[in-house]
Amino acid sequence: MNHFIDVIIPVPLKKLFTYSISASEFDFLKPGMRVAVPFGKSKIYTGIVFRVHNDPPIAYEAKDIQQILDDTPIVNNKQLQLWQWIADYYMCTLGDVMRAALPSAFILESETVILKNNIKTIDESILKDDEFLVYEALHHQSSLKIHDISNILDKKNVLPVIKRLIEKEAISVEEEVYEKYKPKLVRYVKLHSRFSSEEGLQKLLDDLSRAPKQRQVILTLFSVSATTKKPVKVSDLVAQSGASTAIIKSLIDKEVLEEYYIQTDRVQYSGEENEATKKLNEHQETALKEIKESFEKYMVTLLHGVTSSGKTEVYVKLIEEALNMGQQVLYLLPEIALTAQLITRLQNYFGEQVAIFHSKYSTQERVEVWNHVLNKSEKAKVVLGARSSIFLPFDNIGLIIVDEEHEQSFKQFDPAPRYHARDTAVVLANMHKAKILLGSATPSLESYFNAKQNKYGFVEITKRYNNVLMPDIELIDIKDKFKKKLMKGHFSDRLIEEMTETLQEGHQIILFQNRRGFSPIVECNTCGNSPQCPNCDVSLTYHQYRNQLRCHYCGYNSSMIKDCAACGSPELDTKGFGTEQIEEEVKLLFPDYKVARMDLDTTRGKYGYEKIITALEQQEIDILVGTQMLTKGLDFRHVKLVGIMNADNMLNFPDFRAHERSFQLMLQVSGRAGRTDQRGKVLIQTYNPYHNILQQVSTNNYIDMFNEQMNDRYNYKYPPIYKQIKITLKHKDYSKVDAASVWLAKSLRQVFREYVLGPESPPISRIRNQFHKNILVKIPKQQSLSKTKEAIIKINNSFLNIKDFRSVKIILNVDNF
Ligand code: ADP
Ligand code: ZN
Ligand code: ZN
Repeated sequence: MNHFIDVIIPVPLKKLFTYSISASEFDFLKPGMRVAVPFGKSKIYTGIVFRVHNDPPIAYEAKDIQQILDDTPIVNNKQLQLWQWIADYYMCTLGDVMRAALPSAFILESETVILKNNIKTIDESILKDDEFLVYEALHHQSSLKIHDISNILDKKNVLPVIKRLIEKEAISVEEEVYEKYKPKLVRYVKLHSRFSSEEGLQKLLDDLSRAPKQRQVILTLFSVSATTKKPVKVSDLVAQSGASTAIIKSLIDKEVLEEYYIQTDRVQYSGEENEATKKLNEHQETALKEIKESFEKYMVTLLHGVTSSGKTEVYVKLIEEALNMGQQVLYLLPEIALTAQLITRLQNYFGEQVAIFHSKYSTQERVEVWNHVLNKSEKAKVVLGARSSIFLPFDNIGLIIVDEEHEQSFKQFDPAPRYHARDTAVVLANMHKAKILLGSATPSLESYFNAKQNKYGFVEITKRYNNVLMPDIELIDIKDKFKKKLMKGHFSDRLIEEMTETLQEGHQIILFQNRRGFSPIVECNTCGNSPQCPNCDVSLTYHQYRNQLRCHYCGYNSSMIKDCAACGSPELDTKGFGTEQIEEEVKLLFPDYKVARMDLDTTRGKYGYEKIITALEQQEIDILVGTQMLTKGLDFRHVKLVGIMNADNMLNFPDFRAHERSFQLMLQVSGRAGRTDQRGKVLIQTYNPYHNILQQVSTNNYIDMFNEQMNDRYNYKYPPIYKQIKITLKHKDYSKVDAASVWLAKSLRQVFREYVLGPESPPISRIRNQFHKNILVKIPKQQSLSKTKEAIIKINNSFLNIKDFRSVKIILNVDNF
């Protein structure tokens, strides 16, 4: 009898590929193992065995596999089921899912670039001869491809050698440059080297004789470092010298002290005693009890708890119970909410059982977590991770928590699989017969609707922990303020007043400027021309700090122009405003206070984000200006005032979810104010204070927002009432993409009639030199989703058979966000 396997290969082709295997391989191979297989003329891929069987392929002769790469499966059956569900539901290939699901080190292929592992020097004596040859070669050449290694070893089957070298950490594979996960930075100080000599020091102490507090700091620094012989933390110095952080800061400014940062590694938990979990207050207790009751009836429960109500502590209790029952727990968070603050909190409770998984991890670190989960190791009982952690090889999940469930970043936008991690987590929970809790202070309409429909259980916490009051939210009519000339730049007199008072009281301020709104663009005062990106259909954004013009879609940049490219006039003006401009204005308005900015630009560098957070926590920043990065999961004790610079650009964003999102964003930012004893204050500047969403934000009225938005969704046939699939066509030739999209829309209309919208050019119709067209298919509840998809695939296949359209790229986005 002949033996075969069907293999998933990480390429965007629809089929599985069938290979021929020997009888002994047939006995050995199981689904989920890796095999090296030849593909096309000369390529080698790592594939995952999907099925082992005896049915020869019909249309072609099956090739032999090259090599088996695993002794036991690295992907389990439940995962393969989940992959299949994702491929079907989100209309992509199993290969797409495989590529997203596996750490890249697992997918060796002919294009893989092999590098020496420079982080670690290894003991060469542990290498076998063939391994050593490869390792040696990497001392002479910075990188090798698989076929180079074939040449060096003079054989074809080299993947096992490479695999062993990776396991021995002698080599690594190239990947998109992932920065290693950034652990929290701790700030240290030392005496400036100018004072390292005895004379220098003596002179310094003499100079400081009239500044006894500063002198005391220096003396304390000395005695602490003399006794501990270790670097001195700023926090220790503050505690021991009794000096304020301001005094230390002035010593740093005077260059008497030098500050530096050392990262404390929170991923490798130090193994200190675990802290007991907190005793819940009555509201949390009630919620916990209700959640457990709800779990009896429903697989999914939604927890709607206002900001700072202590949801995390409730999760912690549930996690504790799941662990006691020997189950695995998955705690999903959006990438930006995965902060050191939260990680530490969980590690304090659950110690080494917590594993962290997110995109800032290197492939090596991800492989480690993968293996811990696969081997059901004690080190990964609780996985705290972003979107892609749903792909880990769980075996017995008992509980999934999706925190900040409303966050749109749970949906992968590009590339395929364009999956929603929250929705996929529900499917995952179902496979494991696990319970899943969705938590948010501002639930998505989808989840709240499901709760109302009794599909999900529902629990609420309406009080903040410690009975801290919800912030007082005030709307400021800037149209009126402009009329009365009460604006300074982008600041109303009310905002300046409140800021002044807050600063005088020694509290901190957050100013929020949404990035998706208008960013500063340059416009010629004479002819109105503004510089455009050569690759995309957008105006370039002005970045004062670098004196550059940049494109936010493709990264194109040039230095700032001196005169108008169209008419030569030197009278250029910047329109709109971004975080940078707000920062500039604040500095002028409040020159005596420390201002910082948190957005993509300031957090890009190594530790950028953590540095700003640390500085804010340590009260070295008085005013922080930022984008939505500010909204997530951060618990700042001393922030009392939040200013939202302009609510209108969020509300006017051309998207059917714009109002829902604005509500969520504004309430989340507001939630940063006054998290301790003092009631926080929020000022929202707007041209339209009577906008319903703003009224709902200011009264924290989720229900009104929900009802009104749902009404719109009914009327305009949008999710969650209708499902929708967005089809995007791309081509560099406009007439081609235009013709293709017209053809496709017409064909779709023959089946789906009025439920097809478009084709339409999106607001930005050209990106990276590709013209875009969108078609939207709306799907009523009673219409079968799978039949709809079948029909779309059929039409899509006829489309692909039209020679003229073959080079047009088509993207299917199910449940598009
Ligand atoms: P949420 O996630 O709902 O925004 P958190 O769980 O972050 O709220 O709680 C807000 C603050 O209240 C945190 O600083 C947390 O440590 C504190 N807190 C919450 N519950 C308790 C409790 N039961 N005992 C002590 N402190 C608590
Ligand atoms: Zn001009
Ligand atoms: Zn561009």
